[in-house]
Amino acid sequence: MQWTILVYLLALTVAVPASAFQLRPEVKNGEKLLRASDDAYWRMKMNVVGYWGIEQFTNPVHEIITNRIYGCGSDDGCAVTVGNRFMQPAAPMAVLAGVRWNDNPPFRLSDTSLSGCKNVYVQLPMQGSCWASVFSDGKKKAEMAKGAVLYKFQSNKPEQYSMLLRSHFGDLQFLHAMASRPGERAGETADNIMMWAEFVWRITTSEYSRGTTIAEASVDVPLLLDFFDLRDTVQSILFKGEAGYNKDYRDFAFGTLLHLVQDSYSEAHMARQDPDGRLCEKTNYDRPGRAVRYYTYVGQNSRNHGRKDELIAVTRQLSNTPTPNLVDVGQAIKEMRDKHLSWNTVEPYFDCLFRTAQPMTEADKGPF
Ligand SMILES: [Zn+2]
Repeated sequence: MQWTILVYLLALTVAVPASAFQLRPEVKNGEKLLRASDDAYWRMKMNVVGYWGIEQFTNPVHEIITNRIYGCGSDDGCAVTVGNRFMQPAAPMAVLAGVRWNDNPPFRLSDTSLSGCKNVYVQLPMQGSCWASVFSDGKKKAEMAKGAVLYKFQSNKPEQYSMLLRSHFGDLQFLHAMASRPGERAGETADNIMMWAEFVWRITTSEYSRGTTIAEASVDVPLLLDFFDLRDTVQSILFKGEAGYNKDYRDFAFGTLLHLVQDSYSEAHMARQDPDGRLCEKTNYDRPGRAVRYYTYVGQNSRNHGRKDELIAVTRQLSNTPTPNLVDVGQAIKEMRDKHLSWNTVEPYFDCLFRTAQPMTEADKGPF
């Protein structure tokens, strides 16, 4: 790390990530570290830290799409905040917090030499310098691993790697509709995505409570055991050190699913065909554009990746793509949730959304 950057990192509280449609970390009430509506502040930080260009994390793209799904009519209005609140109509705050979780999951390191990082809960915008150190160090090591998945769940050391590194560079990249490594078969990526969709669906329909353990949930979703500890609960996975939203845990969990669905429409994450005008089998919903293949993030040029995650890419997609587009798909899923449909009823729709025609296709970085 260059000295000048290190100095800035130590002096500043916030740094920058990449991956996925952009979003802006939320500022909680009482935190005076920054003003959420002040883009100039974010631009300054990002310019200094210089990870993936100043456009990353300055535009709340995920929030805008989510607000559109919840009925907001225009990009401008959907992005307007008053204090820390979006103008109405907009998604519930817990849904928006869940939408941010995939890119910014809180974590705690019990064994680290990084200054200021030990045994504190880290989540942007708090502990930004620690966050940035973990992120940049993790990225470097992931790239040196040459295709092996470095950051993954280990049952004998369940807290070995932070959720931050696992979700961006490790075994949880399916949370962004991406493969975990080059060569991963599309069928495996889709299995992992379907696992998360089912887990979340059973939370949102109150089948699982905050206290449901992975041991209990894995009766329905055995694959969970590959990624989480038996003793983990819905609460401990989603709300490490986070007090704000756990009473709205169903909305929060649903937000994490919307993030995944939204990312699956970023061209740098996976390839889709255009919709073909047919219905999804066993449902009354239009079939989304067929999934073709998944990409991996490690090895991609982050600037090329970032361009596909920008608001302009989303806006272009919404105006050029035949329906159902990503907002239509989000609205269909929201409607199914509002109707309290069971997982068995909605599973065919998620199959339509994420299963590829050729499950043996191997992931690579794609043209990015
Ligand atoms: Zn993402």
